[in-house]
Amino acid sequence: MDEFEAVPPPPARPPAPRDEALERLGAQPWDVLVVGGGITGAGIALDAASRGLRVALVERDDLASGTSSRSSSLVHGGLRYIEQYGFGLVRESAAERERLRKLAPHLVRPLRFTIPHQGRKRTSLLGVGLWMYDSIALFRGPSRHRRLEPHDVVERLPGLTAQLDGFGYEYSDCRTDDVRLVLAVVRAAERHGATVLTRAEVVEVRRAAGRVVGATVRDRLSGRSVGVSARWTVSATGVWADDLRAMAEAGTPMLRPSKGVHLVFPAELLRVRTAGVVPSVAGDRRSVFLIPWGGQVLVGTTDDSYDGPLDRPAVDQRDADYLCAAVNRAFGTALSAADAVGAYAGLRPLLHGEQDKEVGTDRLSRRHALLVETPGLLTVTGGKLTTYRAMAVEAVDRLADDLGGAKARRRSGTGRIALGLRGDFGEAVARTELLCERVGVDPALARGLVERHGDDAPELVELAARHGEDGPLAPGAPYLAVEARWAVEREHALAVADVLQRRLKVARRVADGGASAAPRVAALLASAQGWGSAQAERSVAEHLAGVRDERGPVPLAAPAAV
Ligand code: FAD
Repeated sequence: MDEFEAVPPPPARPPAPRDEALERLGAQPWDVLVVGGGITGAGIALDAASRGLRVALVERDDLASGTSSRSSSLVHGGLRYIEQYGFGLVRESAAERERLRKLAPHLVRPLRFTIPHQGRKRTSLLGVGLWMYDSIALFRGPSRHRRLEPHDVVERLPGLTAQLDGFGYEYSDCRTDDVRLVLAVVRAAERHGATVLTRAEVVEVRRAAGRVVGATVRDRLSGRSVGVSARWTVSATGVWADDLRAMAEAGTPMLRPSKGVHLVFPAELLRVRTAGVVPSVAGDRRSVFLIPWGGQVLVGTTDDSYDGPLDRPAVDQRDADYLCAAVNRAFGTALSAADAVGAYAGLRPLLHGEQDKEVGTDRLSRRHALLVETPGLLTVTGGKLTTYRAMAVEAVDRLADDLGGAKARRRSGTGRIALGLRGDFGEAVARTELLCERVGVDPALARGLVERHGDDAPELVELAARHGEDGPLAPGAPYLAVEARWAVEREHALAVADVLQRRLKVARRVADGGASAAPRVAALLASAQGWGSAQAERSVAEHLAGVRDERGPVPLAAPAAV
């Protein structure tokens, strides 16, 4: 246990009431005001707060409502960056992957990939790439790559038909749940004293004597605005970074978002035992990956150029056809968007310089950028979910000299701050199983609860037993009814979508998009927030409209019977 911070975390507490947080925001000067509650902002808030700085984080929508809930949820070195000679990025990502496996062993779990290939020449090139991938990670990854005989490939991807005569390779990376990772980091930041407020939008950057000195924050629920003074404002606004830069009149636009899409199919339709990578059929050298996800399979691809609106990106027919064509060729299936149970799209904040304008988004930099174009405003964007912690260290180090004082100059301690589970994953599951038996909850539920909630799992079990909420929240999704209560009481959820689209990804995993569970979630929110029935109905309707828009050609089924 020495590898973790010395002070044990205080017991999990509900977040402070919003009114209090809003009051506090305007009442005191902050060392650091973080704008954006995705993984980048969460990481910076934790890093700064754990050095002892006074930190506030504001998010205009929900935590992780931007790109950080729309990723492929991989914590990975990034195999394809080897092909682009991005060895530094792979080294950093692989080191962060290993660190996160220790800090959040429940949330960052090994995932095996199978890459089927035909033809020995390409296979050997891939073998060299995988050897480099392992060696850059100093052979510390979840397991080393190996060459597979054709029958091994079929055993791992039983549905595969197109490449039955081919060899293949297996390698390992890690999977996570992007939203739960953000929540774990936010909760750690709060534990270290950060104030976090959602539905709080920066509408103006405040300046004095040529310096940014804070921001005007509008509470989107009450419409009230507060002036927030901060010695440094850090914009962690992802693909919206240019908006904040424009408010501060800093530089010309620098972001060129790329779009990635995912379809979710029932596991019966796509037989895969490991994750897999198959080529696209568009002759564009891109790949499509398949990741087993409980009773579903996630099929996705990233990096299509994009010039649509930044808010609420959606899957379209072309995206769905692209994914289905690749899968159908490899697996001999005839899948279409109509067979999927869910779909989502996300925008990656990629950076371009003038010279990159003609380059495809797959070749733009995954590196992050830290920019101070106006004193008092630091913009941090780009990068990956995987490297958020390293980005945060660099960002707060950058502010340290200017902030001055012993606290700012402290070295980052986030490499030792556990993110929701201190100790061994297996032991936590065993302890939770025992508790389940004692209170009359099915012990088979313990593993999933620990995976999603770490050290909080026993408290959820007790709550489930007390409220009779150990049944499924929605048919076909692995989440329990008690987890919706937890989201509302402990995890800053303020709308039905916050629960069913993000904290629990019901909307992507069931054909009705969570319609059957929505009234129950709305009732929990109504009692926590004092809503009337009209507001509860509005929240359900907004959730369903959001799901329908996002999934595009994937049909939204009628509510399943609960
Ligand atoms: P965001 O998550 O977008 O957060 C920015 C936040 O700022 C938003 O919540 C927004 O509401 C808020 N905001 C904006 N303006 C304001 C304002 N004025 N006031 C207050 N708040 C504001 N990386 C990996 O490591 N592994 C993967 O498997 C992976 N898969 C990906 C798949 C896809 C399809 C995409 C698109 C990206 C993927 N990535 C992956 C990259 C990774 O998801 C992103 O780099 C990361 O999530 C970006 O996080 P962020 O916090 O910078 O941005």
